[in-house]
Amino acid sequence: MEQSTNSHFQFCPQCATPLDTIQRRGGTRLSCPACGFALRRYPVTGVGIVVLNGQKILLGRRARVSFGSGAWCIPCGYVEWGEDVRAAARREFLEETGLNVDIGAVYAVHSNFHNPNALTVGIWFRATVVGGNLQAGDDLDAVDFFPLDTLPEPLAFPTDRLVLDQLKQETLGPATDLFASGKLYKRAGFNP
Ligand SMILES: [Zn+2]
Repeated sequence: MEQSTNSHFQFCPQCATPLDTIQRRGGTRLSCPACGFALRRYPVTGVGIVVLNGQKILLGRRARVSFGSGAWCIPCGYVEWGEDVRAAARREFLEETGLNVDIGAVYAVHSNFHNPNALTVGIWFRATVVGGNLQAGDDLDAVDFFPLDTLPEPLAFPTDRLVLDQLKQETLGPATDLFASGKLYKRAGFNP
């Protein structure tokens, strides 16, 4: 996917010379003709926090935000500069839901392209509630647990849907037997 053109930057952050747009690797990049500074963009790191109560998942409704107002999402946020990724997940979840969590294993990782001006890599962690009072805060105006097979619409992020589909499959779907599914074969007569 082509990166956006950085067109909202006009001047070199090092020497304040107006930036030039140059062609590079099939895309465009802003470069300073005076000092050679090149403005590169990289995706920001986002964290999503998956908290289940039985077969229900905690989701939040987005309020007053630039993307997805009124739509539902897995509680999430950005990792701040200098912040540990799991500390960011704990902080965002507390800010948005009022609940303290222990952060568990990474559940999923996806690249997010839904907003061309804010590309991110999302890391979804499993987490366990250890205390607090459930109350929407920060970017959310409602929080609630929903059965995985009766999710609210619309969802704000396409990658949240991938994560929710994965959870639904693993939590509600039939257990997969590797031999029965044909993904794994046993060699006859092999007895180590
Ligand atoms: Zn410069």
